[in-house]
Amino acid sequence: MRHNLSVARARASGCFLWAVVKADGYGHGLDNALVGFDDADGLALVEFDRAARLRERGWTRPVLMLEGAFDEADVAQAARQRLTLVVHELRQLDWIERLAARTGIDVVVKLNSGMNRLGFDPAGFRDAFERARRSPSVRALSTMTHFADADLAGGADAALRRFEAAMHGLDAPRSLANSAAILSLPAAHASAVRPGIMLYGATPFAERDARSLGLRAAMTLESRLIAVQSVSPGDAVGYGSTFRAERPMRVGIVACGYADGYPRHAPTGTPVAVDAVRTRTVGRVSMDMLAVDLAPVPDARIGARVELWGESIAIDEVAGAAGTIGYELMCALAARVPRRVVDA
Ligand SMILES: *Cc1c(COP(=O)(O)O)cnc(C)c1O
Repeated sequence: MRHNLSVARARASGCFLWAVVKADGYGHGLDNALVGFDDADGLALVEFDRAARLRERGWTRPVLMLEGAFDEADVAQAARQRLTLVVHELRQLDWIERLAARTGIDVVVKLNSGMNRLGFDPAGFRDAFERARRSPSVRALSTMTHFADADLAGGADAALRRFEAAMHGLDAPRSLANSAAILSLPAAHASAVRPGIMLYGATPFAERDARSLGLRAAMTLESRLIAVQSVSPGDAVGYGSTFRAERPMRVGIVACGYADGYPRHAPTGTPVAVDAVRTRTVGRVSMDMLAVDLAPVPDARIGARVELWGESIAIDEVAGAAGTIGYELMCALAARVPRRVVDA
């Protein structure tokens, strides 16, 4: 995590760096994120209870709430705990003006630059900005937008132009870039960047892997072989008998399944490493187990170490095989999986 943060820093030098730690640090654990990202300028997330935890743990630098307040109580908490609030709709500004007149709150007004998820249209953005600028309840004021397509070549160009047009004549710090834009669109680095996925060592791109971007996997999911089966041609493995052996083979049974967060949709052939040797899964993933082809690892026995993803099997490869993205697999890691923190 530290290494990946330094990569983000180097790519966006001179920018304020918000390390995005929503969803408990993309499944890596909020306390681990606090240690791994202790060099960040600020932490950004969505959940107010987790923001309170950051303050309890002694994080004194800025905390950015990426979706802003969900209700008035959130604004009161933000005033007490000095949380920076995104404002993407006027109701949030009403609450701030009502509740934070004495303390003042740091506000980031958000433009919808084409994603059509959160944010004001250009005219509404300028109105909200002016209102926030005049409000005694608003302390520091800045601006942001979020890209829908920064992972595609040229994908964020139109959104960037819309943002610049909406900002015309406004003087305030700007934040636009997620990981994909940090890595591919220097023109969007602006005042503050918001890396998420790259800090955890996965790629935001379909066509460029994490290693080629200089990133290192922060999470390794590993287990062991708990059984070895010898199967004959025609024998099936797992629920639904979706895999049948074509020749005599050894099949390893791994103590890891979808109840651990391994994707059930990972088909036969999804990469996995046994004793550090690359092989493939066979048959359906079940709740607590999955099966692997031991042909490339003839010496593997019960107890052999199995890496589901990590430094040798990129989480993005597993995600791609299962029709999803590394983000989802990280976030879906189940609570029952024992965590071990390694200070590398
Ligand atoms: C999650 C999020 C990010 C981080 O995106 P990555 O693709 O993980 O780098 C940045 N900004 C906002 C508003 C987000 O919600």
